[in-house]
Amino acid sequence: MNTADRAVAAYLGLAIGDALGATVEFMTPREIAAQYGIHDTLRGGGWLHLKPGQVTDDTTMSLALGDSILAQGRVDAFASALAFDGWMRAKPVDIGNTVRRNLLQFRKTGDPEAPYSDRDAGNGAAMRVLPVALATFGQAEKTVRAACQAQAHVTHHCALSDAACECLVSMVQDALRGADKNHLLHRHAHPLAARHPEFRFRAVRPSSNPSGYVVDTMQAVFQSLFDTDDFRECLIDVVNRGGDADTTGAIAGMLAGALYGLEEIPEAWLNTLNAGTRHSCQAQALALIQGK
Ligand code: MN
Ligand code: MN
Repeated sequence: MNTADRAVAAYLGLAIGDALGATVEFMTPREIAAQYGIHDTLRGGGWLHLKPGQVTDDTTMSLALGDSILAQGRVDAFASALAFDGWMRAKPVDIGNTVRRNLLQFRKTGDPEAPYSDRDAGNGAAMRVLPVALATFGQAEKTVRAACQAQAHVTHHCALSDAACECLVSMVQDALRGADKNHLLHRHAHPLAARHPEFRFRAVRPSSNPSGYVVDTMQAVFQSLFDTDDFRECLIDVVNRGGDADTTGAIAGMLAGALYGLEEIPEAWLNTLNAGTRHSCQAQALALIQGK
């Protein structure tokens, strides 16, 4: 399997996880079980009243960022802020509180970097890191880290968010190189938990009803990714935990897509994903990874 296929699978995985999880966002595992048994189809609905295969901010912010990277030829903080602001003006179906607050601040100040705050530890920057991972694939570690922070700090200027974003980008890039799950576990997930014990995901209870706190999100994603062996199983496991399920689904889908590749993505999910979204994700993944 080549790098481009894995890049496309990561982007489609992000969108599919978002669409799958959005149906059960903010529900508890018990409510999900009562309503759906096991939720495993792109049926739409949820609190946003989505159409089957429709995605939310996790995917659309990623696409907005990716378009800006392609237009600039690099990851630029000000261009990212303008792209996110344009995205907000287009009235997205959903938007996080931290994202809205700091984009309104950007409109006022013109400064693309939000003020530092340990309280801005939501998952809103981590959910949209994929275009940065693809655009900086093969570049020096210092360049990759700077690009991560340039996009993230527009809305989330926070050490825990940065740690999650940088870890996810490294994981995607190693998966694109063909690294296996064990490598991601021992070279990235465990070291993240060693540097920031908040992120410990072993010997803690299975993460249920994960909130939008980036630590909750990463614990749920890691548990689902490392305790399953294929794309479908991983996504079903993570979204049925409920909580911020579109975002855990999006991040798990991105990682599982890069890890397992295109052939592992179920046809039924691919065919139900909104056609325009599917096309945009494919085209952008190829454009970002081109020549790398
Ligand atoms: Mn969302
Ligand atoms: Mn969400």
